[in-house]
Amino acid sequence: MGAGRYAPSPSGELHVGNLRTAVLAWLFARSTGRDFLLRVEDLDRARAGAEELQLADLRAIGIDWDGPAVRQSERPEGYRAAIDALEAAGLLYECFCTRRDIAEAPSAPHAAPGAYPGTCRGLGRAERASRRATRPAALRLRTDVVQFTITDVLHGEYTGVVDDFVVVRNDGVPAYNLAVVVDDALQGIDQVVRGDDLLPSTPRQGYLATLLSGLAGDFHGTELPEYGHVPLVLNDQGRRLAKRDGSVTLAQLDHDGVPPPRVRSLLLESLGLPGGPLAAALDSFDPAGLPLEPWVFGGFTADTPGMQ
Ligand code: GLU
Repeated sequence: MGAGRYAPSPSGELHVGNLRTAVLAWLFARSTGRDFLLRVEDLDRARAGAEELQLADLRAIGIDWDGPAVRQSERPEGYRAAIDALEAAGLLYECFCTRRDIAEAPSAPHAAPGAYPGTCRGLGRAERASRRATRPAALRLRTDVVQFTITDVLHGEYTGVVDDFVVVRNDGVPAYNLAVVVDDALQGIDQVVRGDDLLPSTPRQGYLATLLSGLAGDFHGTELPEYGHVPLVLNDQGRRLAKRDGSVTLAQLDHDGVPPPRVRSLLLESLGLPGGPLAAALDSFDPAGLPLEPWVFGGFTADTPGMQ
């Protein structure tokens, strides 16, 4: 059997929305007999000390994982191998565009709104050499489709835009869409459960994974994971929950008289599952019965029903 995963970015403390997604990823993996892996996505936005706090909070609500947590910053070989394979197949090109260049460029005919207009796709060798002298290049994928369809356990068939997206940023760091595909393939992950804010990026990732699977090298023959994009948690104004929404981290809630086991129970109950230890919810967990709409979190207090 394969593995599921939770892949937080260590940009700060987790809030109840992040924790609910982690609980769901754990339930999906464990209820199907999969391993559960923890990957720290620290190529970008890593803040000192955040990883330790995040892992401690996950443990405090009963989430366990197989093997040590891995950090993206310690796995450059996989990204290199993928970049080399794409380069060897002629599928990468240098791009010198700024955000502003892209915003101001006329969009290509038939291109989806927001899609990269292809400005640097046809630059010749001399042009590239002179542009390199003024600005480092990002690397974009030369795609031959404009959309791709993935299958999601909760959303069914989902078709979304694929453009010539960036795979290596112009500071040399692998872009999220490349790193996530590489790591999931190399870690043997066959089930990706995460927040549904990432659903629109998934066709790009599915396309890239399929492309790599068809090339010679480390990724040859790898299969697309099963996807499950779960609803986000919103604040009482209907906006995506954020740290500024008050008491939303385990530490703050604990301070307000709501200890981690109670937070866990309330998260499980928000999913229609019995409160208590995570393992006790496994028998009643049924992805088909999950609420598809976002959960509105207006705060827990010692008076919240179910808190006694
Ligand atoms: N690191 C991403 C985040 O925290 C999640 C990426 C993923 O699960 O694919 O939003």
